[in-house]
Amino acid sequence: MGQDLKAYLDAVKRRKPDELHVVSRPIDPAYEITALVVKLEKERRRRPILLFENVKGTKFPVLTNVHASRSRLALALNCAPDAMLTTYLKAMDKPISPRVVDAAPAQEVVLTGADVDLYALPQIVHHEGDAGPYITSAISFARDPTSETWNCAYNRLMIQGRDTTSIHLTLGKHLWEFQRIAEQRGEVLPLALVIGVHPAIALGALAIGSIDEDERAIMGGLFGEPLELVRCRTSDVLVPAHAEMVLECEILPGKRTAEGPFGEFTGYSLGERQREVVKVRAITHRRDAMFQDITVAHLDHMLLSTIPMEANLYRAVRAMVPSVRAVRVPAPFTCYVAIEQRLVGQAKNAIMAVFGADLYMKRVVVVDHDVDVFDDRQISWALATRCQPDRDITLVTHARGSDLDPSTREDGYTAKWGVDATAKPSLGAYTPRHRVPPQVWERLRLDDFLPQ
Ligand code: MN
Repeated sequence: MGQDLKAYLDAVKRRKPDELHVVSRPIDPAYEITALVVKLEKERRRRPILLFENVKGTKFPVLTNVHASRSRLALALNCAPDAMLTTYLKAMDKPISPRVVDAAPAQEVVLTGADVDLYALPQIVHHEGDAGPYITSAISFARDPTSETWNCAYNRLMIQGRDTTSIHLTLGKHLWEFQRIAEQRGEVLPLALVIGVHPAIALGALAIGSIDEDERAIMGGLFGEPLELVRCRTSDVLVPAHAEMVLECEILPGKRTAEGPFGEFTGYSLGERQREVVKVRAITHRRDAMFQDITVAHLDHMLLSTIPMEANLYRAVRAMVPSVRAVRVPAPFTCYVAIEQRLVGQAKNAIMAVFGADLYMKRVVVVDHDVDVFDDRQISWALATRCQPDRDITLVTHARGSDLDPSTREDGYTAKWGVDATAKPSLGAYTPRHRVPPQVWERLRLDDFLPQ
């Protein structure tokens, strides 16, 4: 499969023709795009990819909701939906280094100087109360100013002028670290913001791990071949050669501007903050570029981000508890883990592994392997019947978590809790679950007593 978004959309057209809708009727990018995606999901239980050909105020068509289905993401990874975890883990275990090429479709059109105009892009406003138009699908590519360590991340961008945006850098994460290093040296941080990519690139960008892990090599692992990169026209930053569009930028040292409120994945519209300022030096794009939007805080956003999170958490718990059976991220900052507990204390180790592996994790529930973590009722049942709060809750105070959690007093400075909802001292020794005897279950036929 090609590494570009159009190759992926062609595969969707062939394999899932009902899941790509082209809308030619004019649409207002302020609220209407998000409203249509959410209404389709609510009123018709449908979540297709939508391509809006005729968006008011711009020549660029807008593509959204690409990631809103597990089977579509699986198609991007060339695997079955239930094999996504193992496919992702394999890409993390066996990353493939990227390859630099000389010419790229992403640079068919190059705009610099006075031709840089962010207002020519779709001015998408997602939710009521948002401070203005946001770019939600941009993946940042940047290098540590002092080494060859590269990072990719999703960062929301608020359009602030013809060549200016603000950027949300998650406090304490990798791009934030690069920016702090550059700022201490009084330097700009060169970065590129990439818009419109194959979903394998999107999933790879969201890999969670050490700052030394190269997301670009995980993207290669997901493709099964090296990711093709090209050098930016105005900097040494490397970007995917097959992207739809690239903003070549710098984060300015010592500058901040008002950003937000913005409706986020937490389900809240968090208020205004002072954030870093980005200057756009060039815009490059394909001649027929599509502009990609991510319908923020809905399935397009949530499914995309939880698959890489679950893979990383599974890997981290498995390093501590080899008999881990399942991991699920069902809600913001929350993780359920099922383990086959062979030794007392392993549930607590699983809790510590989760907190050590992902900054965002704030609540962990560990259950035995007979509980299905994908069924919230079973989790509630285990919490109610296998847990004593005074004995089984672990509190971690004064830690670092998400800076988007509205319940903290200071952005990102948070307590965390782990709940051991496994049976004590062990599932084998615990009060048995009731059942009718298996031989009766097997013998009895409904039709003998209650004919249809
Ligand atoms: Mn990273």
